[in-house]
Amino acid sequence: MKLRLIIFITVILTITGCSHLGWKSDAGLENTRKTEILYNKFIEGNSPNVAQLNLFFSRMPKGGDIHHHYSGSIYAEDYLTWVEDAGYLIDKNTLQIVKPGAAADKTSCITVKQLRNNPLLYSKLLSLWSTRDYKNYCHEQQPPDINFFSTFMYFGPISKYNYKEGLKIIRNQAVAENVSYIETMLSAVGYTLQDDSFDAGIRKAVGEESFCRLFDELSAKIKQDGEFYQKTEGFTGKINEAHKNIDDERFMMRYQTYAHRNGTPSAVFSALYAAFLADEKSPLLVGVNLIGYEHGLTALAEYHLHMQMIAYLKKIFPDVNVALHAGELALGMVPPKDLQFHITEALNIAGARRIGHGVDLPYEVDSLELLQQIKEKAAIEINFTSNEFILGIKDNEHPYLIYSAYDVPLVISTDDSGVSRNNLSNEYVLLAQRYKPGYKTVKRYVYNSITYSFLSASEKELLTRNLDARFEKFEAEMAKYCDRLLK
Ligand SMILES: [Zn+2]
Repeated sequence: MKLRLIIFITVILTITGCSHLGWKSDAGLENTRKTEILYNKFIEGNSPNVAQLNLFFSRMPKGGDIHHHYSGSIYAEDYLTWVEDAGYLIDKNTLQIVKPGAAADKTSCITVKQLRNNPLLYSKLLSLWSTRDYKNYCHEQQPPDINFFSTFMYFGPISKYNYKEGLKIIRNQAVAENVSYIETMLSAVGYTLQDDSFDAGIRKAVGEESFCRLFDELSAKIKQDGEFYQKTEGFTGKINEAHKNIDDERFMMRYQTYAHRNGTPSAVFSALYAAFLADEKSPLLVGVNLIGYEHGLTALAEYHLHMQMIAYLKKIFPDVNVALHAGELALGMVPPKDLQFHITEALNIAGARRIGHGVDLPYEVDSLELLQQIKEKAAIEINFTSNEFILGIKDNEHPYLIYSAYDVPLVISTDDSGVSRNNLSNEYVLLAQRYKPGYKTVKRYVYNSITYSFLSASEKELLTRNLDARFEKFEAEMAKYCDRLLK
């Protein structure tokens, strides 16, 4: 009788996918073991088998991609289709988008069809609209960080043209590579209030009290501005509309909104205020972020001020989640003093629950204490391709080694896969190839991408169960592959 009961429970747990709770059938355990053997085989030696790792990680369930920028994740080829659909043109000298009628020199404009018929020009456009082939050229080039961030200027005029289509493209790509959730930084709300007297006052302010007094004053002006509510409502309405038919049993998408960190203080504050309000109003918005060059002159000079702004707004909107790009910096890119406090303040002043990049960790003032604090309060979003390109940091220079040794919660993400022309599977390939973590650790990162997402507890539970089932299927498949390869 007892044995029957055990069998019954095992069957139920297998069906409902409770393997993450440690319940697994013998066949399931054997499949996990063989998958691990296979993975270890692919990463062994000085030259890991990248082709096999590409196959392995393309098929592996990857949970969520939670450091993801909407406009930077769409490939230039898709943007060109939109340029064509909108009837826009391309300036063949600058390779920028031109709206018909806006061209100063009409003879320099060509259609997308003409561009596609000119392989040299087409290839040049792809290189400017992304980081493609950057390393293969030795002609005069922009510095990599400028190249990376400039790409947004090229496709910017069209990126908001069709959110509905853009989200569909991102969704389909995710489903094709076994990604079940994306938390994308979609857009700023589009509201700012420029206030010169606030800007002059806040730049001279010292201490939290004076910051708060000035924030109170500007908040009062923002709340009296009809545009503030109108734009916020318009923004959340646009998301509702674009989001239709995105979620299903295979996939879920949620959104972050943000402010640009290189604006005037009043522009940053008012944009953040609108971001927090929108986030509070819309169930589809799950977090607020700051974007733009962290090493921009304004971003550096006003970093502490920005953290104070978020701390202030968190008091008004305590339920809004904050993730922040922090420590996306390298020695030499900025003076040493700017490497010492960005992650610390994002965590301890702004209350960020996820840190994007976190690359400057070794230089933060009290890095060891900070590691412990991150471990207790947040997760780090690791973006290998982006860090290598923008910061020139990879392999043993990357603080992944420190975070993983300290057991800080990590998630693997893409940042801007359209600009970098990569995908999430490739980020896992880089992880395995460079650092060779065990299969269990890889799986932990996958589950972290749901655990540390900004979804509700019930949504996390649902996606975790879904991941269990996907891993069961994946490991059964890999076990068969293992039998075939290693017989
Ligand atoms: Zn980013």
